Amino acid sequence: SLPTLYLITPTYTRLEQKADLTRLSHTLLHVRNLHWIVVEDSEVKTSLVTSFLANCGVQNTHLNSLTPKQVKLKSSDPQWLKPRGVLQRNAGLTWIRTALNPAKDKGVVYFADDDNTYSLELFEEMRQTQKVSVWPVGLVGGLRYESPVVQSGSVVGWHTFWKPERTFALDMAGFAVNLTIIFSHSNAVFSNNVPRGYLENSLLLDLAVKLKDLEPRADGCTKVLVWHTRTEKTKTKNEKITPSDINIEV
Ligand code: UDP
Ligand code: MN
Repeated sequence: SLPTLYLITPTYTRLEQKADLTRLSHTLLHVRNLHWIVVEDSEVKTSLVTSFLANCGVQNTHLNSLTPKQVKLKSSDPQWLKPRGVLQRNAGLTWIRTALNPAKDKGVVYFADDDNTYSLELFEEMRQTQKVSVWPVGLVGGLRYESPVVQSGSVVGWHTFWKPERTFALDMAGFAVNLTIIFSHSNAVFSNNVPRGYLENSLLLDLAVKLKDLEPRADGCTKVLVWHTRTEKTKTKNEKITPSDINIEV
């Protein structure tokens, strides 16, 4: 049977949230056997995301977990200062480990941020992941793309400008993990206490993944099927003079 894709998406309240979630959901509507785990960075589930998920047509689980103040990125902080989505991805992992049955459920876990752009081909590339699949990510790291370096079908290094010395120098969007690895290493989680840029690396080390376990996808990592797009922050400077109806959800 077709393995299920479990997508974990952290999300937080901002003016552009519904637009980003709408675009992502419309991608996911084209994918078979997919379960979308949406984790709000909030103390309580918001009505916007609750009603959005109820009507989006994608099979989903709605969770929430608030990033504590000490580790939360302020809007005045540079984007790289603190890791984003850590507790939310961990909440998704906890849900997977408690709600799913390791003996019965076959599937793959992917961490899908709400503002990236995903090709439909990507989901079929990751579906047959045995341990950990990897592939290039476009528009990231100050490069046209970052990618695993593949030689004779194996990953031998990383095409990246930032910290190429990392064992796993890849972006969150650049890998997927088989459920069995998530179950067999039940303590593996993301950590807020790792150096900048080491989030993905530390999870894969926690999962006891070895370089030789990596399965290069997307034609031996020659195709870009996911893009680290970022949604521009909207300026609402004219609201002061021409206020919009606050009862209209954006
Ligand atoms: N995110 C979150 N809480 C925050 C900031 C971001 O849950 O305070 C989520 C966001 O919705 C996205 C992921 O974490 O799904 C990565 O954040 P972002 O896209 O802002 O990071 P970047 O594109 O810079 O890696
Ligand atoms: Mn992003």
